[in-house]
Amino acid sequence: MDNKQQIDVLIVGSGPAGTSTALHLLDQDPSWAERMLIVDKAIHPREKLCGGGITHLGENVLADLGLAIKPSNFAVREVRLVYDQEQYSFYGDPVFRIVHRAEFDHWLVQEVEKRGGHVAQGVTVTDVIERDGFVEVITDQGTYEAKVLVAADGSRSLVRRKLGWNDGTHVARLIEVLTPDNKETAWEMRDEVAVFEFTQLHSDDLQGYYWDFPSIVNGELQMNRGVFDSRTHTDLPPRGPPNRSPHTR
Ligand SMILES: Cc1cc2nc3c(=O)[nH]c(=O)nc-3n(C[C@H](O)[C@H](O)[C@H](O)COP(=O)(O)OP(=O)(O)OC[C@H]3O[C@@H](n4cnc5c(N)ncnc54)[C@H](O)[C@@H]3O)c2cc1C
Repeated sequence: MDNKQQIDVLIVGSGPAGTSTALHLLDQDPSWAERMLIVDKAIHPREKLCGGGITHLGENVLADLGLAIKPSNFAVREVRLVYDQEQYSFYGDPVFRIVHRAEFDHWLVQEVEKRGGHVAQGVTVTDVIERDGFVEVITDQGTYEAKVLVAADGSRSLVRRKLGWNDGTHVARLIEVLTPDNKETAWEMRDEVAVFEFTQLHSDDLQGYYWDFPSIVNGELQMNRGVFDSRTHTDLPPRGPPNRSPHTR
């Protein structure tokens, strides 16, 4: 790359926020392809901790872009919210689809590229400086001067930090475990149910939920189970090692 490269729109991050920005620009006018660039420090397919649920709203956005979800996905017919002995379900055909984020995000990047968009993978942004009329974006492989900079670099956004946009947001904690499973051994798969389990909320030590999602990872049925701790109330101590047996169904 030249010492400094001028670009109209530089998008940092090729997760759904970055690729959605690019796909919408390309949808408006294909000539955006030569006036914008996505950079990402990762190389797809890259893993991403996430439940992977795509609601019908998300599917509608994709449909408006002429895209039907191509990566393998598990259609969930019931979402069950559990709190102690109480539970509430809502149903749909499907309620949402569960994808594996590595596959889904990779697919979106490929769709950008199919439309002529450029995605520079393995490029890490290290600094961002506001200049008069443009933003200087320094990466480990060169410098860009961007008229517009899109900070799509995720929850711990370096762009946001470098520009001093610290808005008091906090970082959640989570653990995700993927295990090969099947419809005989996992009732959630058999019944096509996604479970959100909030029981641990009442003790204040988990500000979130457990999730049990049936999913398909690289063509194989797997249960995607996890613990999400939002840390919304940062004044409360974070949860230490488990001090009680988990709720069982
Ligand atoms: C427990 C949990 C469960 C969730 N479940 C769901 C769900 O079921 N359905 C759903 O829709 N959402 C879910 N989410 C939310 C979802 O994961 C995020 O909203 C989504 O990933 C945000 O996408 P993004 O494109 O903004 O960021 P990301 O997907 O995080 O992408 C950011 C990209 O920026 C890149 N990047 C970061 N820093 C730099 C840098 N310095 N230089 C270059 N590149 C950089 C990263 O490599 C990454 O590829 C869940 C979140 C959590 C915490």
